[in-house]
Amino acid sequence: MRSITILGATGSIGGSTLDVVARHPDRFRVHALTAHRRIDELARLCVAHRPRFAVVPDAQAGDTLRTHLAAADCPTVVLQGASALDVVAADPEVDVVMAAIVGAAGLAPSIAAARAGKQILLANKEALVSAGPLFVRVCQEGGASVLPIDSEHNAVFQCLTPMPSGQGLPGVPNGVSRILLTASGGPFRQRSMADMADVTPQQACAHPNWSMGRKISVDSATLMNKGLELIEAHFLFGIPAERLDVVVHPQSIIHSLVEYEDGSMLAQLGNPDMRVPIAHALGFPERIASGVERLDLARIGQLHFEAPDPVRFPCLRLAFDALGAGSAAPCVLNAANEIAVDAFLHERLAFTNIATVNDLVLQSLGAEPPPAGIDEVFALDERARTLARRHLLRYAA
Ligand code: NAD
Ligand code: MG
Repeated sequence: MRSITILGATGSIGGSTLDVVARHPDRFRVHALTAHRRIDELARLCVAHRPRFAVVPDAQAGDTLRTHLAAADCPTVVLQGASALDVVAADPEVDVVMAAIVGAAGLAPSIAAARAGKQILLANKEALVSAGPLFVRVCQEGGASVLPIDSEHNAVFQCLTPMPSGQGLPGVPNGVSRILLTASGGPFRQRSMADMADVTPQQACAHPNWSMGRKISVDSATLMNKGLELIEAHFLFGIPAERLDVVVHPQSIIHSLVEYEDGSMLAQLGNPDMRVPIAHALGFPERIASGVERLDLARIGQLHFEAPDPVRFPCLRLAFDALGAGSAAPCVLNAANEIAVDAFLHERLAFTNIATVNDLVLQSLGAEPPPAGIDEVFALDERARTLARRHLLRYAA
């Protein structure tokens, strides 16, 4: 029986994780669930899954949750404040931490889990992008292991031969020549730049294949998500930029590929449902049921591939450049992008100006040296956010 903390339990990944966990009551006990808003939804999850602890951001949310839980006779203990996230991530009783908070807000509890030597199921790619070298070091020092949840990285993990041990970070074995991440191309794959200028948040969030949180949905539409994933792959697998590539595959059936020295390519296939990579990581090295419908290849018929267009999707190019720089660039790019995407979602910035803001902030701060410690990461992240907000004033829709 393994005890699991789910950071970001009310989100899309959090919900899929609880769905898989609930299918295996003999294997998992829910230790803690956390949420930032939607406290009524967190209450519902507590009543259904009976965690020891629930974490909310502040006293007001704490009071609301306690009232809900008392009415349902649920014994879950409510903790509040950002530091409580670190507590439930590092608790000695916890074996597994699902890191599914969105954005750099997930960094501190992921670092806490790494220091405490937990098995981390990493969905929160922004944490790794903003603090890659630091996160890797803390995992090594703390004896933590990382299993990728992002479908592409989980696919790569599954395509590595020999199979990774599951200890530490996955790395890549000898003989791997290239990692090829697939991208759906998002909802605007075939649109011209001009046609993308006035798209709405609703259109950007209507992903053709995946149902996800709003931030990652916008990132998928700009292809920044693939850019962040290149940086994520670099740190997870310890592979340089020139051995990483992206191919657009609109059906989202092949989730990524690994190319070997002998010319073989191994791919992982599955229906586009995050419960597949989540079940893989939860069960590893065993295979456990995910509840996902079987893949019917004859019904799918054809798989299609094309090269990504760096002109219409400049965010992908920005991320490639940031990755090669070995500097502050990944952290800066991630922070600027969080501000720009939030402004777009609130209809204060045009879709095509997300890349403009990101580019401007990178030009100012991207060449600085990489942050050495966690305090430096937070300071740099904040400087990039402040600068991005200043540029927003100029480009405000
Ligand atoms: P979501 O918006 O659906 O959920 C985010 C969760 O984080 C919620 O529980 C929310 O309460 C919590 N949260 C938000 N801000 C917070 C803050 N400041 N402090 C503490 N908690 C906070 O997001 P999602 O789609 O589930 O994505 C979660 C992470 O997983 C992201 O990093 C995303 O890139 C990654 N990911 C998601 C998918 C997917 O299919 N949804 C796929 C691959 C990777
Ligand atoms: Mg992904």
